[in-house]
Amino acid sequence: MGAALGVRLAGIKAAPLVRPQPRGAQVAPRKLVAGNWKMHGLSADIAEIEAIAAASRRFAGVDVALCVPAILIERASRAVPGFPIGGQDVHHSDEGAHTGCTSARMLLDAGAALTIVGHSERRDSQRESDSEVKAKAEAALACGLGVILCVGERLELRDSGAAVSTVLGQLDGSLPDRSNAEAELAIAYEPVWAIGTGKVPTASEIAEMHAAIRDRLTQRYGRQGEQVRILYGGSVKPSNAGEIFAVPNVDGALVGGASLKAADFLPIVAAAADHSG
Ligand code: PEP
Repeated sequence: MGAALGVRLAGIKAAPLVRPQPRGAQVAPRKLVAGNWKMHGLSADIAEIEAIAAASRRFAGVDVALCVPAILIERASRAVPGFPIGGQDVHHSDEGAHTGCTSARMLLDAGAALTIVGHSERRDSQRESDSEVKAKAEAALACGLGVILCVGERLELRDSGAAVSTVLGQLDGSLPDRSNAEAELAIAYEPVWAIGTGKVPTASEIAEMHAAIRDRLTQRYGRQGEQVRILYGGSVKPSNAGEIFAVPNVDGALVGGASLKAADFLPIVAAAADHSG
């Protein structure tokens, strides 16, 4: 895991998303700040994507990406060549009778460099299981797309002390088997109760969870697990980003609402740059 993206399917090649450096005592990994536009964005909003892409170039030490609605991917990726545009979901099959779904090759063909899988809004509303999320991640990685795989507990599980065991269970069920993917895997820890609510776990709660995820990744992938970035997601804002990025094992953020406007998103990218080695 962790090498630059690249794919050789039908001559289509994904744009580079992220080029993490080896994790080591002296070298901090590059942070990744990815926006999730959810079901927001029309062609008129391409100008906002252009503004974000242009300003992101100022932060050379941070990887930045935007995951937009599938129908905007092609226009967005043409508008900002070289800037990673992603999808928000992918089907696990290459093609077939799956009305309304989008395959990894279709995302790639439209210009995507990555995709989110397993977002809690899909796990909830589409009843996506861990095994489906795993199949989606494997399909996307096999195509050369980067993958941001989301996990996170509901509030009642945090309140009952089962947050870590819940998230580790999700990882056990949804982490892709392939450990030699050319495309990059990142994990987004997103407590369900923090998404879009303005509530954020404490720094020590984030630290505990990210350390547990890191342990699981290294158990699963050996030393390659050290290179899988772990993002935090859930009500990240310019006002709290610096504190979150200072937490050990926080290698970036998945940002929803605050990614829609350059004026909100860029200060978060700047905070990541401030906390990059
Ligand atoms: C998300 O949807 O992944 C997310 C983290 O949303 P928000 O930043 O709005 O809480």
